[in-house]
Amino acid sequence: MPTKPTPSNIAALMEHNKNRLNNILQRLLREFSLKFTYDQSGPCNDPTWQCNIYLDRNVIAMGGGTTKQHASEGAALSALEHLHGQYHEKYPNVFASDAVKGCWVCSLLDAPSGA
Ligand SMILES: [Zn+2]
Repeated sequence: MPTKPTPSNIAALMEHNKNRLNNILQRLLREFSLKFTYDQSGPCNDPTWQCNIYLDRNVIAMGGGTTKQHASEGAALSALEHLHGQYHEKYPNVFASDAVKGCWVCSLLDAPSGA
């Protein structure tokens, strides 16, 4: 039976966003270059990090946070949402997961599937 993601397994999913992003891109595209760039702003004791994700030469997502890690995980999540929006209908299997039944991005976003 379908289970809703709980905050703890969302956190677990979030943790692996960068890996998932890589896996999904490998399934979708044979060749690609994925690059994370970082900018730091604000005071040293309270910095703000901005992460941009480049797929080939295009920025596909960005994220911000108080640590590099947070910024990159947030950016990776929006990159996944971006790819999901483009490819879910065409290639739903790419987003299938063992952790969640069916498309894990749909579960994560709590979006109705097949709408
Ligand atoms: Zn989906």
